This record gives sequence, structure tokens and C-alpha cells, in this order.
Amino acid sequence: MTKKLYYDSAYLTEWQTSISKTIEKEDGYYVILEETAFYPDGGGQPSDEGFINGISVLDVISEGDEVLHKLGRLPEETKVNCEINWTRRFDHMQHHSGQHLLSAVCEDLYQATTLSFHLGTDYATIDVNQPELGADQLSRIENEVNRQIYLNHNILSYFVAEDELAQLQLVKQPKVTENIRIVEIKDVEYNACGGTHVASTGEIGMIKLLKADKQKGNTRIYFKCGYRALEEFNDNQRILGALSVKFNTGKDEIIDRIEKWENEQKLLQAELNSLKEKYDGYVIQELLSNREGHLLAHIFEDKSLKDLQNLATKLTTESNLPVLLATAVENKVVLAHNGSFDPSCGAYFKANLGSYNGKG
Ligand SMILES: [Zn+2]
Repeated sequence: MTKKLYYDSAYLTEWQTSISKTIEKEDGYYVILEETAFYPDGGGQPSDEGFINGISVLDVISEGDEVLHKLGRLPEETKVNCEINWTRRFDHMQHHSGQHLLSAVCEDLYQATTLSFHLGTDYATIDVNQPELGADQLSRIENEVNRQIYLNHNILSYFVAEDELAQLQLVKQPKVTENIRIVEIKDVEYNACGGTHVASTGEIGMIKLLKADKQKGNTRIYFKCGYRALEEFNDNQRILGALSVKFNTGKDEIIDRIEKWENEQKLLQAELNSLKEKYDGYVIQELLSNREGHLLAHIFEDKSLKDLQNLATKLTTESNLPVLLATAVENKVVLAHNGSFDPSCGAYFKANLGSYNGKG
């Protein structure tokens, strides 16, 4: 059975060991190591990445008591040097510990029990069994979790036997009955968990709640910890900075500016609509007086399809003739009639489009 070094320390990133077994599966090569610190996907925490003898570890999965490492090719030596991608691992540790603390605070403040945890490449989520959490409640949760982070509680992990388990006030009962691993946030909670955690809550850095939405009677809370929270801040600052430049104002005035701008747009649009209405009147008169044969037709250089549709509707109320309008800028045609004419569109276009440089 693989010795799981990540249970002893989440901070071990380099070690030497031997390959105890190689497996060829349909989707690639896997190796089992005598000792591994590569964490396999589980408990909401994604698997580690890194290198085994310089070969990229593509995936880490657990099968029974074994940990399988997926590699692009098999190493030539049995003795191997292993290295974990620490940036990725530490990010997982910050979020997993952040999740435990967030769950503990949700439980404590609102009796909102965590049902599931997911750590994605962008953000992390927990689902809690509350139909709704309002902005004030989320803000209170966020403040309290961050306060707990700064109290810098130690985070410990250890295995307990079943009888010792009864002494602990666990968040929820574990699925296994032997070799139960407890992750304890000192003075906060005991949690049965196999994941990798930071040594004290201060290392979570900070937790930022992004939003919450309803999920089948429960609430999903989106959050980021540590470096990801910092990145989120930087992204938002960049967007806000660009808006400040565009609206030529400080960030506190941007919303006012946008509201003013929206009102101006509404006025301009109303003015434009009334001018279009007038202009359409002139165009209609001109088309009616210049018509040739049994068709009202014209190609416009710069009208939108929507404008053509409006115009065509008006023309069909003024005349029984079919209307064929085209726009050069959008390369589209509109054929309209008021019902007193029964065209087959295909045949009609074929017969008439030629003279307007149209095809098909
Ligand atoms: Zn956990």
C-alpha cells in the first residue's frame, strides 16, 4: 500500500521513492509509488500536479488504498525523484482550509450546514442547506470568517480510533469507521477530512465571498481565498481603472456618470426616432411617385434591416404593390406586400434580383 506522505505534512514538495507497480490502462500509463505526496482528487479538492523523474504528472487518482499517478510515458528507472507543483497545491490548501472555516462560520451564525464543496479552476463553492442568504447575512459571514483568519488558529490533523471519535464534536459523521483523519481548527471545529491544509488560518490570507445563488432549496456560496482573492481584486481594479479613464472620473462617480450617459442616450434615441419617422415620410412619397411597373423597389446604401422592415410596412399600407427593398451596408433584402399580391418568394427573387446584383 502506498504510504501517503500528504497525511504527515502538506508542505512536503520533494522526495525520493521507488515505483512499486506500473499499470497500462486504455487512457495511458499509471505508476504506483512506495511513498507519495501527490494528493489524488477527492473531498472537493482537485489532484496535484508535478513531476516524477522530470515526467509531467497528468492526473492523480485513488483506487482503494492505492494512489495512481498518470504519466505521459513510463520512467526508465525504478528509483524516482518526485516534485509537486507548489503554487497549485498551496492554492488548494488555502481554499480547503478556507472552506472549513467558512462552513464553520455559516453553521455557527445561521445554522447553515455545508452539503458539498467544489474547488474549480476559477472559484470555489459550498452549498449550504438554507433556502436563501441575503446580502447582510453574507457580509456578516464574510467579516466573521476573515476575523477568524486573523486570529490565526492552528490547524492540526491526526488519526483517531472509533472510540476516540465519540469524544469529539464533529461537524458531520465520517463515512469510514477506521483510520479516521481529523482536521482540527483549534478553538473552532473538528472535521473528518483527508485533504491538505495550511498550518494556521492566517495562511488562508483572506476570503472573499463573490456571490450566492439559489440551488434547489439550498444556497450556493461562491468564494476565493488567498492569491486568488488578490487576483480578483486586481482584475476588478483594472476594469474600474479602464472605466474611470473612459468616463474621465474617479471610481466613486462612475455609476452617476453611467446613469447620466444612459439618460442622454434615451433622449438621443427619441430624437433619432422622430427624425427617422419624418424622413421615412419623404422616402415613401418619392418611391410612390417614381415607381416603375408593378413593384416598389429601392436599394439603400446605409439603412439597417430593421429600418427597411419599418419602411416596407409603411409602404404596404400606402400601396397595393409588392415592395422590394435592399440595404447595401447589411447586404439584405426585404420583400413585403399587403396580401393583395400572392408571390412565390423564390421565383419572385429569381425574376427580380438580377437587376439588383443579387444572387440566389
Ligand atoms: Zn475537508
